[in-house]
Amino acid sequence: MTDDKNDGGDVRLTGISKTYGSFTAVHPLELTVPQGSFFALLGASGCGKTTTLRMIAGLEEPTTGTVFLGDKDVTDLPPYKRPVNTVFQSYALFPHLDVSENVAFGLRRRGIKSVRKQVDDMLELVQLGDFAKRKPHQLSGGQQQRVAVARALINHPQVLLLDEPLGALDLKLRRQMQLELKRIQTEVGITFVHVTHDQEEAMTMADTVAVMNGGRVEQLGAPADLYENPKTTFVANFLGTSNLIEAEVVEKSGEDLVVTAGGAKLKLPGGRCSAPDTSGGKILVGVRPEKISLAHQDDEGSIAAGRNRVPGRIVDSSFIGVSTQYVIDSPAGQGLAVYEQNIERDTRLVPGAEVVLHWNPAHTFGLDAAQAID
Ligand code: ATP
Repeated sequence: MTDDKNDGGDVRLTGISKTYGSFTAVHPLELTVPQGSFFALLGASGCGKTTTLRMIAGLEEPTTGTVFLGDKDVTDLPPYKRPVNTVFQSYALFPHLDVSENVAFGLRRRGIKSVRKQVDDMLELVQLGDFAKRKPHQLSGGQQQRVAVARALINHPQVLLLDEPLGALDLKLRRQMQLELKRIQTEVGITFVHVTHDQEEAMTMADTVAVMNGGRVEQLGAPADLYENPKTTFVANFLGTSNLIEAEVVEKSGEDLVVTAGGAKLKLPGGRCSAPDTSGGKILVGVRPEKISLAHQDDEGSIAAGRNRVPGRIVDSSFIGVSTQYVIDSPAGQGLAVYEQNIERDTRLVPGAEVVLHWNPAHTFGLDAAQAID
């Protein structure tokens, strides 16, 4: 499929916004989707991600701004004139056509007669070679979704837009299809823009994720960067559980910041603090639950030097198979979450145990305390 490689350039939205009456669904947005990337628009229901996608597709007219595909301004082009195709959650396959006829539809509509080879290649790409003669109702949800993807890709769009395409599938199938879509995108090299409210889905599939909140992109980056270095409380909480501890800046020590929280001195790398770092300033210090280790208070001496540490008491512990999840109260904060993996059942800490939470300062991030905790 190498001849399918996309050479149409980036998708660029400049100053794109959408208002409905007095309500602003999307605030003026600057967004570049790199050519050939798998890009996710992630956010809660109503944050404006579908509206953004529909403006790329031409299904929604922007109130302000310009949509570029490569160097070409496509803002005023109708959807069918844009080199873009969309896969929706409802696959909208033609029920009376079999799989190969569904996939061939776009080519036939353009008057192309010999479609066999292209259809066969497409069905092979989505691993439905043996299902060519089945009707949609004879397919599973995941198979129907793959037909929809094949049908959208057969016209070699520059960009494939996916609007919650896996929303109707059960969890197991959704996970399979996430990997499948990722494989297909890598194989065809076409730019995919995928809308989802599921952070795990966005992080599994996308090279770049734009986290949207209230019609704005709150943060954009590679999944691991967003997870490990969120810049706002919304992003920290939307992308998983985070412990946010109220702290006060004490001083800068080389590249690091030193803060106090509940009497404990903690370090965080200066580059990972998105809050003002003047001494005396209030910030929130964050650390993900799986980055924290626990030691009995009696064993504090065994903790390596240089690690951040705060004392605490276990208030709850639950074994959930892959990990044991603890809830811990500490002078630095109540209800801190700690996930520990690979521990034997009989070494689990029990409620009431006095412990020390400790972690590598490199896993600490700092946020502006003036923001509300979402
Ligand atoms: P979901 O995941 O629920 O689809 P979303 O993030 O995709 O949510 P949008 O569909 O982009 O959200 O909608 C953003 C906001 O704009 C919502 O508050 C929605 O109610 C509003 N909205 C969307 N279309 C219209 C319309 N035609 N008229 C008025 N308001 C609209």
